[in-house]
Amino acid sequence: MDFGKGLRDAFRALTGSSLVDEKAVKDFLRQIQRVLIANDVPIKLVFSLTKNIEKKVFDSNAPKGLSLREQVVRAVYDELTTIMGDKYNPPLAKRRILLLGLYGSGKTTTAGKIGAFYKTRGLSVSLVAADTDRPAAYEQLEQLSKKSGSKFYGINGEKDVKKVLDFALPKISEDIVIVDSAGRSGFDEELVEQLKTIERIYKPDEKILVMSGDIGQVAGRQAKQFHEAVGLTGVILTKMDGTGKGGGALAACHEAGVKILFIGTGEKMEDLRPFDSAKFVGNLLGFADFESLIGKIQQIAKEDQLEQEDFEEMNLETFYKQMKAAKKMGPLDSVLGMMGVHDLPKDALKTSEERLTKYEAIISAMTKKERKNATLFKKQKSRIERVAKGSGSSEKDVRELLTQFEKLSGIMGGVKKNRGMRKRIEKMMGGKNVDMSKLSRLMGK
Ligand code: GDP
Ligand code: MG
Repeated sequence: MDFGKGLRDAFRALTGSSLVDEKAVKDFLRQIQRVLIANDVPIKLVFSLTKNIEKKVFDSNAPKGLSLREQVVRAVYDELTTIMGDKYNPPLAKRRILLLGLYGSGKTTTAGKIGAFYKTRGLSVSLVAADTDRPAAYEQLEQLSKKSGSKFYGINGEKDVKKVLDFALPKISEDIVIVDSAGRSGFDEELVEQLKTIERIYKPDEKILVMSGDIGQVAGRQAKQFHEAVGLTGVILTKMDGTGKGGGALAACHEAGVKILFIGTGEKMEDLRPFDSAKFVGNLLGFADFESLIGKIQQIAKEDQLEQEDFEEMNLETFYKQMKAAKKMGPLDSVLGMMGVHDLPKDALKTSEERLTKYEAIISAMTKKERKNATLFKKQKSRIERVAKGSGSSEKDVRELLTQFEKLSGIMGGVKKNRGMRKRIEKMMGGKNVDMSKLSRLMGK
């Protein structure tokens, strides 16, 4: 089961259900557990993660003013981000890097990628071929140095790593030095000895273990072994493009206490990025920029100075303010979907700039009374004619606005008036009285 798809399916089931109650959340969490376990996230982490989510969502101290659905989304996102580690900001400073790890983990490719990474950020780079075991390692790194625009040092065919380093190091004046070392099929003493020799001569600032993401939670054990033997400054996980187990590898590394620096996502030189758990999880969940989405939702009310009373009562004035606010959030249906508003009439979402301007004109041609009480238009049709003339639009436009308003206020009124739903929400939020105006504020946007 693909990690991201599994998570997104679980979310879809949650947002697709007509009512999100305690049972729906529990079902959802069970599904999340299955996805995580299938993707090799350590079981201990899986259980503590779902426990934490439950606590956050059902705790009476849970932040008010968020729909239950939004709380679940937020909690899952927070917890996943926490188990994956932090964000890495690669310092743009001179230093010596040693790459180590087992056969085929992606060391040599990664050496080239790191070179390309710092090259494009204005630093000079040299690559040193210190894998003296593999016959083709020298040529492979030489090729990659050309691709990445780095300098290259090594002695072709030399079997003594000490000789290679003694030859190369005095010549190097580049900002970033990357030494590519030999691997093994498994962790062993011989490898550790060789790494210690390199360390003595090279004195690296960074000792980075390169591992393939497809080994899943084994990555945690491996990182620990290497860390105890040579003292790592971080890990790089490669092949994160082709494996569902990448998430498991990340979580296990973080749990093992090693910092994740970069992830490799392909064979090309540009397929390397500094690890950022928020971005990684956001991508998995299908919200490219989750943080900013949540931030926006919270920002909107402030920006537009929407007052509490703007939501208590739906009238044409508040309708206009809300539409304007909603528009700023971008793809409206997905935003609303996340917040639990579904099945909105399609045309209720088409709030184009042009339309908004038109609506603004129409609403400002109304009397204060009409704005507060749209039913007046039903009682006296002549009002429509007057407002159309006054705003320079057609009667059809006015009627369209009124229809849209009716649809939206119907939906919101339904949420507010539905006592059953309200009771359930209150129960879910710990028996507290729920501020329905806040709830509808979220739903109304
Ligand atoms: P080394 O033995 O540790 O030096 O590993 P290599 O750098 O030679 O890489 C082994 C194989 O993995 C090569 O075929 C690489 O092209 C491939 N590889 C390395 N990193 C990535 C990655 O991030 N994504 C994918 N898809 N392949 C990778
Ligand atoms: Mg290699």
